[in-house]
Amino acid sequence: MRVAIIGSGPSGFYAAEALLKRTDEVVHVDMFDRLPTPYGLVRGGVAPDHQNIKAVTRIYEKTAARPTFRFFGNVRLGKDLTVDDLRRHYHQIVYAVGNEADRRLGIPGEGVPRCTPATVFIGWYNGHPDYRHAKIDLSVSRVAVVGNGNVAIDAARILLRTPAELEKTDIAAHALEVLRKSQVREVFILGRRGPEQASFTSVELEELGEMEDAEPVVAPSELAGLIIPEAARSKQQQKNLKILQSFAERPLGTKSKKLHLRFLVSPTEVICGPDDGVSGLKLEKNRLEMQADGTVAARGTGEIEALEVGMVLPAIGFSAERISGVPYDEKKRVIANEDGRVIDPVSHLTIPNEYVVGWARTGPQGLIGSHKGASAHVVAHMVTDGTGLAENALPDPEAIINLLHKQGVQVVSFNDWKQLDDVEVARGVRRESPRDKIVDVETMLSILGQH
Ligand SMILES: Cc1cc2nc3c(=O)[nH]c(=O)nc-3n(C[C@H](O)[C@H](O)[C@H](O)COP(=O)(O)OP(=O)(O)OC[C@H]3O[C@@H](n4cnc5c(N)ncnc54)[C@H](O)[C@@H]3O)c2cc1C
Repeated sequence: MRVAIIGSGPSGFYAAEALLKRTDEVVHVDMFDRLPTPYGLVRGGVAPDHQNIKAVTRIYEKTAARPTFRFFGNVRLGKDLTVDDLRRHYHQIVYAVGNEADRRLGIPGEGVPRCTPATVFIGWYNGHPDYRHAKIDLSVSRVAVVGNGNVAIDAARILLRTPAELEKTDIAAHALEVLRKSQVREVFILGRRGPEQASFTSVELEELGEMEDAEPVVAPSELAGLIIPEAARSKQQQKNLKILQSFAERPLGTKSKKLHLRFLVSPTEVICGPDDGVSGLKLEKNRLEMQADGTVAARGTGEIEALEVGMVLPAIGFSAERISGVPYDEKKRVIANEDGRVIDPVSHLTIPNEYVVGWARTGPQGLIGSHKGASAHVVAHMVTDGTGLAENALPDPEAIINLLHKQGVQVVSFNDWKQLDDVEVARGVRRESPRDKIVDVETMLSILGQH
């Protein structure tokens, strides 16, 4: 059985692991990624000061070392390969392409300089090749981060860490240089709904109280007006409220930078200043309304305030990119699927032998660990649906490589990546960090050319 997996993030690697561990069938997995480097958001999303989380890649390395696994980096589906190519060369296809597009605020002024989507800011500090040239101007003193998830917390924390805290991480060198000179002193994390509805995990929230030179500030009034009865609150809600309460009770300390957590406000307009960049954000105060289905909705009250900030980072979620030939669900902004089986979005008929895992299947929900079970669940469908498929003759396994070479693609193998990995780790020693990332594809390919 020959399977193509597109995307080398956690969901792709967990799908590969489940496929390669099958005992009823010998499965050959070819994994493609548009970047020469594997691991998706583990490399390009997870915050650089969370190195322990990145250690999960050791498990993926074990999968990559299996004899029936091949990695093809620097190959983009939709450009270097088409879906029809995949259908010709593989019995089954798994899309594991994540959510690489931002959700927009949809308010006036969103496009002005220094209103920067979280994807750009996060990709920039993590050395993602797409964002290495992003203009991140940290000459401003106050920044608003819009959103109430861990991504908002990550962005705020990186803005507020000291250079000494950041140096020992694998943050991109270009970002470290800009952050060293940063004038940012206050960050506001803004939530549309209340503290009970925030989707921060408690560990990330708690960490905000442990920064070297920045401290969280929560006005007691922000914690008034809770809507969920105490007995009905989830464990995470209880823990988060306790942490926020402890922040609210702290006397204002002497740390030089402040992180304000504010709730029940929606941005209505990005205000443009005399330098044509962000100078503020108009916010509408919200109130909460319990819906018939038990969910809690925020409703605008019409009360408007202007928050003076020089930069806005919307971190309100992501959606899957459209890839030519891959069915797209316009409403959910993911690859059209029913429980991981790809479907035609109009007829709802299953597209045979095509599957989707990870954020491309569900949208941006779930931590890295959650993909292990979720990808295995989809692989179980592949096993059920795939009986007898392996008997269908396919082109020689080398044919896909010849096809890519013919297109002029410089394919990066897993061994090539290991060479890049060694170079990055060696460069990191100079600044006593785990690695100093290579941030552009041309340099990666030229290093491999020299080897
Ligand atoms: C900022 C941020 C911080 C996070 N921090 C944590 C954390 O601390 N802990 C935690 O547990 N989880 C964290 N997460 C969540 C975690 O990263 C995701 O759950 C997980 O990475 C999703 O896996 P995935 O495989 O679906 O997608 P991804 O990890 O995004 O992988 C998708 C892969 O597909 C590739 N790709 C995309 N399009 C194509 C194409 N056309 N052709 C070929 N390849 C393509 C991409 O290059 C990428 O490698 C974080 C997420 C974000 C955004």
